[in-house]
Amino acid sequence: MNPVVRFAPSPTGQLHIGGVRTALFNYLFALKNNGTFLLRIEDTDIERSKDIFTEQIIESLGWLGFKYQGNPIKQSSRTKRYQEVIEYLLKTGSAYRCFATVQELDKLRNEKDNYLYPRIWRDRSEKEIEDKLQKKENYVIRIKIPLNGNIHFEDLVYGDINTDCSELDDFIIARSDGTPTYNFTVVVDDHDMQVSHVIRGEDHISNTPKQILIYDALKWDTPEFAHLPMILGSDGKRLSKRHGAVGTQTYRDLGYLPDTLINYLALLGWNPGTEDEVFNFQFLMDNFSLEKINKKAAVFDNKKLDWLSGQHIMKSESEELLDSIRSIKPDWAPNGLSDEYLFSIISHLKGRSKTLLDIINQSEYFFNDPIKYDQNAVAKCWGEDTSELLKSFAEKALTCLDWKDESIEACINDFSEKKYVSKGKLIQSLRVSICGSLTGPSMANLMSLLGKETCIRRLNNAQKILSE
Ligand code: GLU
Repeated sequence: MNPVVRFAPSPTGQLHIGGVRTALFNYLFALKNNGTFLLRIEDTDIERSKDIFTEQIIESLGWLGFKYQGNPIKQSSRTKRYQEVIEYLLKTGSAYRCFATVQELDKLRNEKDNYLYPRIWRDRSEKEIEDKLQKKENYVIRIKIPLNGNIHFEDLVYGDINTDCSELDDFIIARSDGTPTYNFTVVVDDHDMQVSHVIRGEDHISNTPKQILIYDALKWDTPEFAHLPMILGSDGKRLSKRHGAVGTQTYRDLGYLPDTLINYLALLGWNPGTEDEVFNFQFLMDNFSLEKINKKAAVFDNKKLDWLSGQHIMKSESEELLDSIRSIKPDWAPNGLSDEYLFSIISHLKGRSKTLLDIINQSEYFFNDPIKYDQNAVAKCWGEDTSELLKSFAEKALTCLDWKDESIEACINDFSEKKYVSKGKLIQSLRVSICGSLTGPSMANLMSLLGKETCIRRLNNAQKILSE
């Protein structure tokens, strides 16, 4: 049978990048095995779940290119089904109502020095329960778990996992307001969605035995389980906002490409078995397997992400990069410039940019004459003789009729020879005058791209400033 997997985020914030990795591994597993990838929105926490976050999650999955089948299943639309299953568990004696108050339980726990639920309502008579119901007292519903024995499952990443029933208690499956709890809904949903493989973060490994007990109580087959190693911050603690950005949209807005995030997150916890760490989705699809997932938690390293990002930007077609830039900054370039001109700008900058934002931030001088000049660069490259130098170079440039890379290069060389000024010094003075700073692609390249008129105007502007 072809596998069915699901990604089940809670819409309580932007899609966390740890969640992206879970989604990615589920998606790859489905693609690789001709399976089905489903999306479930776990929105039973009414206080914290927001529709806006559901929309953001769906949008982020679209941006990443992860295609789930059908419509997302929302837990909030399944209340009736959960009630039906709870009724069934009560009827078959696998679950029971517990009327113990919090104070009562706290007292018992303190006395026994044991935090597990003391099972005081497990074997009450029907009459006692009826009485309480008549009096409309609050209750929760607990699952009746075996008093002894062992719960075993073989995790596809972590191997044999055994839990002694004595380590668990009759945990709550429905709260006093009637809302079902995570461990319960997840089982009903996974069963109803015919999920064959549950692939999720390692933080859920301790929930799995509880969920197996519910499967058993319902006489449903359990799926396979694969837990993924945690992603940690540099301090060894679970990756969270304290460590910086964790939301997918934030990464998009910071100018990372989806391919970069996918590549980087795949490396967190999965071993490609090659030296080369820069790869695309196709490579991942060809090489992915659950066996290559590591057990050890992985540390999120921003520097490595930036390096990978630079690699992906460099390898991307300028046309694609333009689309991506426009999606995060629609007004990036002034109106009226041709796409060809913008492609050229991107081609010049992509080798020296780590993110799309880097391209955006470095591109100002392609669109506007500098107003401010980088003061360090000015101190370093403009001297007493610069005004004269710029003036005579501008005159020479005017005579350059064929404004192309080679002829501009020849013009620079010729000028440097005839005027006994070193080429390095000349170029630096020109660069500060034309770009306002010392960064940028090769001078001849840049000047040909900007056009003769613009270059001469900028040289004259700088010269004016210098002579004031
Ligand atoms: N909503 C859960 C989470 O975001 C999913 C747990 C699961 O996959 O079973 O962690």
